[in-house]
Amino acid sequence: MQIDKLKPVLVTGANGYVASWLVKKLLDEGICVHAAVRNPEDTQKVRHLLDAAQGAKGELKLFEGDLLLEGSYTKAMEGCEVVFHTASPFISAYKDPQKELIDPAVKGTENVLNSANKVPTVKRIVITSSCAAIYTDAIDTVNAPGGMLTESNWNSTASIDYQPYSFSKTLAEKKAWDMQGKQSRWDLIAINMSLVLGPALNPKSNTSESINILKMLGGGDMKIGAPKIGMGIVDVRDVAEAHFRAAYTPTAKGRYITSAHNSNFLEMGTVLLPKYGSQFPLPRKALPKWLLMLIGPLANKLFTRRFIRNNVNIPWKADNSKIKHDLNMQFRPLKETMEDSFQVLIDNGILKAKA
Ligand code: NAP
Repeated sequence: MQIDKLKPVLVTGANGYVASWLVKKLLDEGICVHAAVRNPEDTQKVRHLLDAAQGAKGELKLFEGDLLLEGSYTKAMEGCEVVFHTASPFISAYKDPQKELIDPAVKGTENVLNSANKVPTVKRIVITSSCAAIYTDAIDTVNAPGGMLTESNWNSTASIDYQPYSFSKTLAEKKAWDMQGKQSRWDLIAINMSLVLGPALNPKSNTSESINILKMLGGGDMKIGAPKIGMGIVDVRDVAEAHFRAAYTPTAKGRYITSAHNSNFLEMGTVLLPKYGSQFPLPRKALPKWLLMLIGPLANKLFTRRFIRNNVNIPWKADNSKIKHDLNMQFRPLKETMEDSFQVLIDNGILKAKA
């Protein structure tokens, strides 16, 4: 599918941690961005987008859009050939997973894609999915054929009661493929990222779990040790690049695992030790699994025994060769991602060095 770079594009949830870097990339490339946010008047939430547009070659136009309102994105989509659908809650503190996670993810995807069916200019939709739509627990990678996750795996074990965020991403991506299959005007590319880290353009935001995890690491929550939970990590700037390439590479097709490092929670902290270890209470060792089994469920409702059993001390492996081959993607080293993430939080006074 050939896409015209002179035509505008829509980015849903444009002010988010991940989407802001995509908006910046698009503006730097000279593309006109229709940036849909819940409240364009909320200067605190859109200031970093206005800043990114300053001096950029492309034009930024703000629109209002809410995932739970039918037809909410139709106006913002008009004239666009590409829709980047990134908006979806990525939260771990929720009371009602159906209302707070699943409805916005699934009904939101349905709404955005229904609008695409009505707006004749749309040719390609790039959906921000997740590795969470591929697996639930690190143990799933061990059980996958060849001991490694690929794009052909689908999450089959998350539910509304167990890892509902992963469930929401799985249902949303399935909905998108189902709707794509019922028409032939627009194609669909899914970007399946692992945990995204890297410098935030909106470091004061407290919605994305990515920023919250970085704050926890530097704030001393894991100073006695970190659980060695197997997971993938990718830099937010590389994720923006992946979305961009997925949109403008005519031969791009299907799902793309977008993950740079097969890593774990502890390594996120230890990679920061040489530069920041003397000033910040970073984790230095792994918390033993038996101890986590004992205290984990009391400390955090997500740390159930099932979660600990299936994730702690279990290596996570995903195959990122498809995106490297098809989209010629390269990824930043973990040290650069972690140090740049941390420095932005320090520069903004969010993390404070020991006196
Ligand atoms: P984020 O900063 O919290 O961004 C989420 C965005 O979704 C925000 O712009 C938010 O708008 C919007 N949103 C939430 N509910 C909405 C609703 N009802 N209507 C309209 N907009 C709504 O989180 P993020 O980390 O950048 O996540 C962005 C996307 O990446 C999500 O699809 C997430 O599942 C996916 N993802 C993230 C990671 C990661 O590690 N960060 C990994 C894999 C996939 P407000 O600002 O108005 O709340």
